Amino acid sequence: MGKANLKPAIYDELTGLPKFNLIKNFLADYIVRRSCTQFAGLEKFALVYLDINDFTYLNETYGYKICDNIIQRIADYLSAKVCNPNYFTRVTGDKFAILCTEFESKEHIYEMIEDVVNNGCNITISDYVFYITMSAGIAFFPEHGRDIDVLMKKAETASYLAKKTGKDINIYSDELQKDIIEQVQMINKLQNSIDKGEFQLYYQPEYNLTTNEIIGVEALVRWPNPEGGFTPPDLFIPIAEKSRQIYSLERWIVNEALRQKTLWEAKGLDDIELSINLSSKTLESESNFQKIEDIISSYQVDCSKIIFEITETILLTQVDMAIERLNRLRAYGIKIALDDFGTGYSSFTHIMKLPIDIIKIDKSFIQSVPHGNEETVITQNILSLAHKLNYRVVAEGIETQEQLEYLKTSSCERGQGYLLCRPLPSDKLNNLLHQL
Ligand code: C2E
Ligand code: CA
Ligand code: CA
Repeated sequence: MGKANLKPAIYDELTGLPKFNLIKNFLADYIVRRSCTQFAGLEKFALVYLDINDFTYLNETYGYKICDNIIQRIADYLSAKVCNPNYFTRVTGDKFAILCTEFESKEHIYEMIEDVVNNGCNITISDYVFYITMSAGIAFFPEHGRDIDVLMKKAETASYLAKKTGKDINIYSDELQKDIIEQVQMINKLQNSIDKGEFQLYYQPEYNLTTNEIIGVEALVRWPNPEGGFTPPDLFIPIAEKSRQIYSLERWIVNEALRQKTLWEAKGLDDIELSINLSSKTLESESNFQKIEDIISSYQVDCSKIIFEITETILLTQVDMAIERLNRLRAYGIKIALDDFGTGYSSFTHIMKLPIDIIKIDKSFIQSVPHGNEETVITQNILSLAHKLNYRVVAEGIETQEQLEYLKTSSCERGQGYLLCRPLPSDKLNNLLHQL
C-alpha cells in the first residue's frame, strides 16, 4: 500500500498516504482473525511510530504552508524507503506509522528503521534547506499487547522516550521503559533546576605538595536534592550529556566560575588558578563551544590562570576538531588539562601531538599507591615521562598520608584529595584563601 490520490475518506489529502484508520481497522481485523484461526506467517507484526524532531519549532518559525510542504516531502521520502509488504501511513500532523508484517527478528526491524531515520533527510523548499531528523518507537504484536490502541500507545511512548534521551530509535520493553522513565524524570528535574538556577559550584583546592600551599581550585558542580544532599555529578552529567542539557548547564558553570574568579581577583587573590571541567559534548558542538568562548570574552579575568579540564573521549574520536577547539582556548592564554589520565587509551605518543599542558593522574591509581604493584609502576612511569616531556602533573584523590608521602618522594609536585581538603562552597573556600 504505497501513495495514492484516491478517495479522501481513505487517503490522507495532504500526503496521499492511506489514513491511519484504514491500517487500524485492518489490524483490528487481523488480530481478531488471528485469535480465531492459526494463520501461518501472520503470527507477529511490528508497529513503528515515527515522529519528526522539532516540528513545532519549524511550524512556529516557517508557518503552516512551508510545513505542510515539508510533511509532503517527508512522506515522499519515507514512501520510497518503506517497501511492500510494509504499510506506511500518516497518523496526524508530523506523526507517521509503519506496519511491518514480515521480518525475521527484532534486530532486523531495528536495522530497517535505522536505515529510514538514521541520517535524516535534507529538504529544500523556496530557498530554505531543512535538515529533518526523526525519532522512532517500535512495539511488537503480540509481545507488547493484543490491542491496537495499546500497541500504538507503547510505540508512541517508546518514540517519545527515544527523543527525550537523545536516541533515534527505541524498542518498547517494560524494564527499559522503567529505566528510561527514571531518566526522563531526571531530565525534567534537571531542567527545572537549570531554569530555577538551583545548581551550586563547590571548589576543591589543589596544593603544591612540597610547600603545602593552595595553588588553585577545581570547580565542581553540585545539584541539591530534596533530601538535603547532592545528587552526584557522575549520575547526572552523563544524562545531561545525552539530553544535551549539558550545554546550558555548562554555560551556567563557566559563567559562575568566572564570576567567582573576578571576585577573587578583586580581593587580591590573583594567583589562584581556576580549573573548570568541560564536557566533550560542548567541545564537539561548534555553536555551543562558541557560546562558551563568548562567556570567556565577557570577563576581564587573567586567562593565564584558567585551566579547562577535558577527558580523552574527544581526543580519540575527533582529534582534528579537538585540536582546533583547544587551540582556540589556548589563544586566550587558557591552559588545558587532560583529566582522569591512565584510565583510558591515551598514550604519551598520542597526547604529545595535542595542545595539552597538564596531566591529571586518575584517582584510581593514586588510591592504590604504594601497595598496588601495577598501579604504582604506572604512576611512577606517568610521573617520569610527564616530567621529561615537560607536562605539569597533578595527582587526584589523595586520601592517606602514605599516598601523600609516596607522591612527594616521587617528585609529584601538585595534588588534590580529601586528605588535603574536600570540595567546599565558595564562602568556606574564601575563608580558607584569606588565611593564606
Ligand atoms: P573529576 O573531574 O575527576 O573530579 C574529581 C572528583 O573526585 C570529584 O567528584 C571530587 O569531589 C572527587 N574527589 C576529590 N578528592 C577525592 C578523594 O580524595 N577521594 C575520592 N574518592 N574522590 C575525590 P565529583 O565532584 O563527584 O565529580 C565527579 C565527576 O563529575 C568529575 O570527575 C567530573 O567528571 C564530573 N563533574 C563534576 N563537576 C563538573 C562540572 O562542573 N562540569 C563537568 N563537565 N563535569 C563535572
Ligand atoms: Ca576534573
Ligand atoms: Ca579526574
